Amino acid sequence: MTTLTESLLVHASRNLPRYTSYPTALAFQSAPDDALTRGWLDAIQPTDAVSIYVHVPFCERLCWYCGCHTSVPNGYDRIADFLGHLRSELDLWSDAMPPHAGAAHVHFGGGSPNSLSGEDFSSLLASISRRFSLRPGAEVAVELDPGNLDGDFARGLGAAGVTRASLGVQTFDPDVQRLVNRIQPFERVEAAVADIRCGGVKAINFDMMYGLPGQNPDNVADSLRTALSLAPDRVALFGYAHVPWMKKHQAMIRPEDLADVAGRWGQAEAAEAVLLDHGYIRIGMDHFAHPGDPMAARLANGGLRRNFQGYTDDPAAVLIGLGPSAISAFPQGFSQNASRVDHWAAAVKRHQLPVSRQLATTRDDRLRGAVIERLMCSLEVDVASVCAEHGYAPSTLDDELQSARTLRVDGLCAVSGRRISVSPELSRLVRVVAACFDPQASRPSARHSLAI
Ligand code: SF4
Repeated sequence: MTTLTESLLVHASRNLPRYTSYPTALAFQSAPDDALTRGWLDAIQPTDAVSIYVHVPFCERLCWYCGCHTSVPNGYDRIADFLGHLRSELDLWSDAMPPHAGAAHVHFGGGSPNSLSGEDFSSLLASISRRFSLRPGAEVAVELDPGNLDGDFARGLGAAGVTRASLGVQTFDPDVQRLVNRIQPFERVEAAVADIRCGGVKAINFDMMYGLPGQNPDNVADSLRTALSLAPDRVALFGYAHVPWMKKHQAMIRPEDLADVAGRWGQAEAAEAVLLDHGYIRIGMDHFAHPGDPMAARLANGGLRRNFQGYTDDPAAVLIGLGPSAISAFPQGFSQNASRVDHWAAAVKRHQLPVSRQLATTRDDRLRGAVIERLMCSLEVDVASVCAEHGYAPSTLDDELQSARTLRVDGLCAVSGRRISVSPELSRLVRVVAACFDPQASRPSARHSLAI
């Protein structure tokens, strides 16, 4: 257990990016240049593997805490319409790409990919496999809402080609579930896990949360213990971000039901203690993995990466995002699809890549991004080595290193020469150290989540 000192409380109260990219998506600019994205696609080499992300922007019902781009479709017509446009978008991107080494990772997120029918999901995955030449042994991961998971859909995932299922569990406490409009009894999650495993998908992730209304260290720890009785391979532990000025439905959550920063700290500590007691290995700031999981191996060999889906063992440098709001990442920059389904669909109908925001990264961005990614993944970085890899002098980021040195007194990190390390017990605050290398981080933004 780490005591929350006054100085740690100050750091934990900061609003900071989650650094799933650097620069962050807030820096992307509207009025994108189609030729720029197409130039980045043209630069893909025949030996480059690519990754695919598919955003399904629908859910059966809206959870009050949700921060995703999603809506309730009220019938299957909107979903069928979306699927038609998604298939056209698949063709647009794949036609614009030169020969490549195939897709090593496919990730379905949302929203809830299980808002599609089982037949439509299988057929969509088959189309993606064909258009992007799925590599043998590729990981195909899908995020699922277990509260609305049809048994046939779950049992068909393995045959469709899915290799990893990620279930939004969040909490098992019935009072908390009621406060966030997500009624999901243990038996339902248990049945979902059994159906998924029975269908041949062996790798299971759970998303769990703290900081939700009505949560306290005891009920968070109880939920974790109950979750671990189902033996997930990975657990992601997220803190709820209350931003009702950005996500209107969060106004359904009463601020008086939310813990303060010290309370959130206690909940995170309680959850982590359960995970570590059960033998899970800490991955970065908020993930935990069974020692036999590939992510634990990636952490050990220094190959862990961070992208828009969070921590990943996917080494591909190119990520193609399909569907509304999805972000594509290239070595040269980022392109984000239009977030509104109608705007996205209209662009696809015009046979245009549906990109609405974009950012061409500079050499300086890529250097800072590499330092931040190393810190976020390995909790340590040799800044001089990263500078050398990017063709910069070892002293290039010495001012930023000096900022990191000021955090030593609070116990947040150790700095030796140009090497920084964050203690695993404080990994949940690694963003504070990473922010030393982000010139924008000194301008607080209410659009970022609390550091804890
Ligand atoms: S199921 Fe997931 S994506 Fe859908 S509303 Fe709930 S939290 Fe959001």
